[in-house]
Parts: sequence; C-alpha cells; structure tokens
Amino acid sequence: MSDAATTSRRLPHDRRRGLMLVLSSPSGAGKTTLSRRLLASDDDIALSVSVTTRAKRPGEVDGVDYHFIDKPAFQRMVDDDALLEHATVFENSYGTPRAAVEATLASGRDVLFDIDWQGTQQLADRARDDLVTVFILPPSIVELERRLTTRAQDSAEVVARRMAKAADEMSHYAEYDYVLVNDDVDRSLANLEAILRAERLRRKRQLGLSGFVNGMREDAGR
Ligand code: 5GP
Repeated sequence: MSDAATTSRRLPHDRRRGLMLVLSSPSGAGKTTLSRRLLASDDDIALSVSVTTRAKRPGEVDGVDYHFIDKPAFQRMVDDDALLEHATVFENSYGTPRAAVEATLASGRDVLFDIDWQGTQQLADRARDDLVTVFILPPSIVELERRLTTRAQDSAEVVARRMAKAADEMSHYAEYDYVLVNDDVDRSLANLEAILRAERLRRKRQLGLSGFVNGMREDAGR
C-alpha cells in the first residue's frame, strides 16, 4: 500500500454531531458550581443562557447568568416561538432562547443547559437523539438545607419554599439518563466529564465514519 493511500485515510474525530447536555437538580445540590467548572475546563461546550422574569440576585450578571427580561418580553418570545422550551418555576418564568442554541450547535460545539425537569421533558420531545440528561442529587436533605441556608442569597421564606419543592423536584430523577450524588464536587466533575467524553464518542455522533471505514476497506483490498 502506498504512503499516499494510508495518509489519505484520516480519522474523522473532528467531525461530530453536537449534543445537548442537560443538568437538573433541586436548588442547592451544587449544579451551578458543577456547570461553571465544566465550562471552564472544556472549550467545546457552551452554556445556554436562559431568559427569566425573576429578579436578579446579588452578584448575578445580565447576559451571563440569565437574560433578565420582563413579563411582556417573555410572552413575546413565547408567541414568536423563540424559546426551545419554557416553564414556570417558583412563580417565575424561565426559557431557553432557540437561536443561541442553534448557532452554537451549528458551530460544532455542544450546549449545556441548566434547566428543570419540565424543560428537560420538552427538549426530550423535540430532540431526544441529541440530548444527554444528568440529574444531580444532594448527599442528604440535611446537607441540602445547610447549603441553601449558608448561600444566604434568598430570604428564609424562600429557602423554606425551596426545601418544600426539593422533594418534589427530586422525584423526577428517574427520567434522566445519569444521576450524580454530589457529595464531592471534584469527583462529581470528573464523573460529569466522563459522561460527556463517552457521549461524544457514541457512534451516532461521529460523522463521516462510513466513508473512513469504506476507504480503509478499499485500501486493504488493493
Ligand atoms: P434559579 O432561579 O435558582 O436560578 O433557578 C430555578 C430553577 O429554574 C432551577 O432549577 C433552574 O435549573 C431552572 N431553570 C433555569 N433556567 C431555566 C430554563 O430556561 N428553563 C427551565 N425549564 N428551567 C430553568
């Protein structure tokens, strides 16, 4: 076999169908920390920045954590079908802008979603093949309450309401592909990276494989 023939057959590792990685959890399970660390360690995945009608918390940045919009603007996006999914969580509206997700996927990068179970179900209805879903559980209810209290960004009343909702949200863990019990953030991050690495290698996500293999078979038959 000539050198030209062997070098013409290149692994199509850079040709991949983008995936949509969803992280859901009750608030306080450590999802925000995990998603920030994943984004910092992996250039091939970008966060879907949601729109929300809830008030900005101290330290949050418009356009980075969320796009903070008012109720009429949110309704316009719903009416214009500009949201891939949307849901009401704790009496506020949240939604995923469609255009940004499509642009990121078209550029060959994966998209990370920090959304609740309602949004996950809607994405599953629309794009199951491209979806990888991960549910993050706190190590215990006591730890969840401690995290929600020490975070201190919400009033005691809001913390109490979120605790009451946590059990409800956690009941949806079984609808997810993967479950991480977040008792150690470094270990959870390593597990999340392993999930992402394996999902990227799924045969259905690797484009150009048949051409690559057929080419090698032709070379082998010469
Ligand atoms: P928080 O107000 O604490 O930032 O978020 C409350 C909940 O809303 C979290 O569970 C978060 O994952 C969820 N959420 C944030 N953005 C979206 C979104 O665009 N769609 C849906 N369905 N849920 C969202």
